[in-house]
Amino acid sequence: MEPQRSPLLEVRGNIQLKRPPVKAPSRLPLPGTRFKRGPDQMEDALEPEKKRTRGLDTVTKIATSRPRAPALTTVPQTQGQTTAPKVPKKTGPRCSTAVATALKNQKPGPAAPAQKPGAAAPVLGGRKPTKRPAWDLKGQLCDLNAELKCCRERTQTLDQENQQLQDQLREAQQQAKSLGAECKTLEGELARAQAQAEQGQQELGNLRARVLELEEQLGTQQGLVQELQKEQLGLQEERRGLAARLEEQERRLQASEAALSGSQAEVASLRQEATTQAALLVEQGERLHGLEMERRRLHNQLQELKGNIRVFCRVRPVLPGEPTPPPGFLLFPSGPGGPSDPPTRLSLSRSDERRGTLSGAPAPPTRHDFSFDRVFPPGSGQDEVFEEIAMLVQSALDGYPVCIFAYGQTGSGKTFTMEGGPGGDPQLEGLIPRALRHLFSVAQELGSQGWTYSFVASYVEIYNETVRDLLATGTRKGQGGECEIRRAGPGSEELTVTNARYVPVSCEKEVEALLHLAHQNRAVARTAQNERSSRSHSVFQLQISGEHAGRGLQCGAPLSLVDLAGSERLDPGLTLGPGERERLRETQAINSSLSTLGLVIMALSNKESHVPYRNSKLTYLLQNSLGGSAKMLMFVNISPLEENVSESLNSLRFASKVNQCVIGTAQANRK
Ligand code: ADP
Ligand code: MG
Repeated sequence: MEPQRSPLLEVRGNIQLKRPPVKAPSRLPLPGTRFKRGPDQMEDALEPEKKRTRGLDTVTKIATSRPRAPALTTVPQTQGQTTAPKVPKKTGPRCSTAVATALKNQKPGPAAPAQKPGAAAPVLGGRKPTKRPAWDLKGQLCDLNAELKCCRERTQTLDQENQQLQDQLREAQQQAKSLGAECKTLEGELARAQAQAEQGQQELGNLRARVLELEEQLGTQQGLVQELQKEQLGLQEERRGLAARLEEQERRLQASEAALSGSQAEVASLRQEATTQAALLVEQGERLHGLEMERRRLHNQLQELKGNIRVFCRVRPVLPGEPTPPPGFLLFPSGPGGPSDPPTRLSLSRSDERRGTLSGAPAPPTRHDFSFDRVFPPGSGQDEVFEEIAMLVQSALDGYPVCIFAYGQTGSGKTFTMEGGPGGDPQLEGLIPRALRHLFSVAQELGSQGWTYSFVASYVEIYNETVRDLLATGTRKGQGGECEIRRAGPGSEELTVTNARYVPVSCEKEVEALLHLAHQNRAVARTAQNERSSRSHSVFQLQISGEHAGRGLQCGAPLSLVDLAGSERLDPGLTLGPGERERLRETQAINSSLSTLGLVIMALSNKESHVPYRNSKLTYLLQNSLGGSAKMLMFVNISPLEENVSESLNSLRFASKVNQCVIGTAQANRK
């Protein structure tokens, strides 16, 4: 009996016959190379496996979906050729059962390609099957045996093929298994690679962001670099400029150093010279001091020769609106030296109407000649007048008391001479401002010889034998609160006026301010008492103190500038009303003080033991400026008008008496 074969093996056997041999192993990836490939290559590596798998699927599909019809159809054909007409035998029902089963299982799907009957018909032994007669059972049996033998052979072949295919299948399954494992490994690797790729992407993203950031920074830095380069260029330019300057400076420095060394040599020689000069200077200083002392002595001698009491006569000009005096009324005969000599003489003619000639004709005018130390005709300027007294101011600085008076009737020009004309015209400045300016400048000059000077001013008026302060300020201003003349201390020669201001002065401006204040004070007083200024004596005093610290020398003396009250007398024939009585009292006081002044000067001149200083406030106040060591100058001011001739004569006579006085040798107040 033939071993029964499964229909599957049969089918496989059929298929095996038609299928081309599979060359799967040749398409497998080479071991050890797959990990070295990239993802694409890995894909390629996987590809053949897929293909192989597909190939297998194809085989399987074919194997499963292929209708078994051809195999089955061959059987009925064969059977049909051999057994159809016959009653089924032992094998027959089996074959027919198989055919029936096949037919029953066959679905009415798409018809499989019909196999050509001829192609599947078994050709046994190359012989053409011949139809045996029904009786030829033996022959039929023989045919069947031959066919059986053929079928067995074929079965054997198919078994072999089946065995081969199974081997191949196992191998393929094994390969598939290993490929599956490999596939898993690769998938794991792929996942890792993908994770890595994702991480790489993320890193890449981060890096791109970082790159952008860095690019931005780079841009900023480049901008900065450009700016710095620009700045660098500027700095280089500046550096070049500075280098040039430095070079220039160095050149100058060298030149300066050369000059310096030259200068140093010069300085050394100059020092040497300076030392010599200093020694010389000391010597010269000594000499200068000696000369200064000699100058003072000679100056004083000169002043003494000129007379310690000097009298200058000044005639004011005729003012606008005043009657012109008759020609020859005042004459200024020239001195022995001719017209070039400064005038010292004055001749005044007076026609006395009371006197008459025997013939009844008017008596010729009487000439009155006077001679003084100096006469200033009407045209003389303030500067000209001051020139003559500048020497006296020098004497005051040298330590000799100096007193300058202005004597004359009211309106004769006393105030003009002492203080100056109206309007602040510098040309019209009087003796007081000029004398003080001269003092300040000479004191400054003497400063170079080691002398330092200080000045203290006071300004009072004496009216009706009462002393009032002209420098009073505040509530006392204009009131001229009464003052008393006192000795500065017990046993002291120095006199002070109580309640009066003593103002230190050091420049013209300060003196100007004081004169202005005195003027204001007098103006206020004038409204209260008619023309009091002309009825009072104004005494400006400057206490001068000099010191030579180097030699321990000191000198001090008062400079007094006195604008005396009007010297006119009241007409004795006048009837006296209440106003006139007051005026008479004033006049008597003035006359008394003026005659006391004359008496004092006389007593001093005659060297009398008693000098009546105390007889008037004026002489009492001025006693230190009138003593033996003092120098005195009296201006006798004269009106040019004929109508004032009487008063002019009185003044000139008084002045002449004073002029005849000689006060003993003046002594500088040295301490
Ligand atoms: P006194 O003080 O003696 O009363 P003033 O000095 O007030 O006299 O002079 C009277 C007037 O005469 C004033 O107006 C003054 O300006 C004027 N005067 C006096 N002397 C001169 C002079 N030398 N030159 C010009 N004017 C003078
Ligand atoms: Mg006056």
